[in-house]
Amino acid sequence: MARTESFYVDVHAHLTHEKYSEDLAQVVARAQESGLGAIVVNGLDPQSNREVIALGKKYPLVKVALGIYPVYAAIHETTLPEPFALAPFDLDAEIAFISTLARAKKIAAIGECGLDGYWLPPEMLPCQERVFAAFIALAKECDLPIIVHSRKLEARCMEMLAQVAHTKVIFHCFSGKSNLALQGAERHGWHFSIPANAHKNEGFQKLLRKLPEECILTETDSPYLAPEAGARNEPKNVCGTVKLLADLRGWEEERARTLIWNNYQRIFSNG
Ligand SMILES: [Zn+2]
Repeated sequence: MARTESFYVDVHAHLTHEKYSEDLAQVVARAQESGLGAIVVNGLDPQSNREVIALGKKYPLVKVALGIYPVYAAIHETTLPEPFALAPFDLDAEIAFISTLARAKKIAAIGECGLDGYWLPPEMLPCQERVFAAFIALAKECDLPIIVHSRKLEARCMEMLAQVAHTKVIFHCFSGKSNLALQGAERHGWHFSIPANAHKNEGFQKLLRKLPEECILTETDSPYLAPEAGARNEPKNVCGTVKLLADLRGWEEERARTLIWNNYQRIFSNG
């Protein structure tokens, strides 16, 4: 019987991070050798967005996602917490820049974007919601996937997304209650990308076991969330999550890989 070719996929990585400044070409080569068919590299701010575009031109494996990290939506309202020290930039100009490329079909997805209630206090919600709402509308208008950071504000992210009927939603590293995720998948057809440290996390394993098959994706959030604590993560580590999915469901690994590859292709078909 003829086999359709399938690959592994990482839908959420930050390969513009300085931790790859020495050996990015090898990291991408290792991903390719490990059988990855795509790495969706996510921008966070004006500089990394432009670097993601450059990586997309350099490496065929890299797919371009542009966004504004939710914490940066508060850049004009408050002093950002330490890890996010960045010179203020024009949020509306960056949204306009991303919108132009999205409408011209030059990017594969919108993200990273969303809401963050871990680093920012509730007073910073309105400015975050304004930026997130703009990206939700853009994703819907252009029929592009939107890659969502929802840390500690999962239910509010879902409320905002439920206002538009858009199924190409990917919750990255969803850490809210698993029942909330299952509802989002069943009622709205939303997707959840499971990180490479899932073998150590009961919540992610529950999602791998219970999510509808068509709603599962894999990611690494490289360089963060490595399978071994403290290590630098890299896209090839999605292979471990595919194996875990296969083990948890009693499948052959190829079935799990093909499922996730097909999910990726369906959602990103317009990019
Ligand atoms: Zn991220």
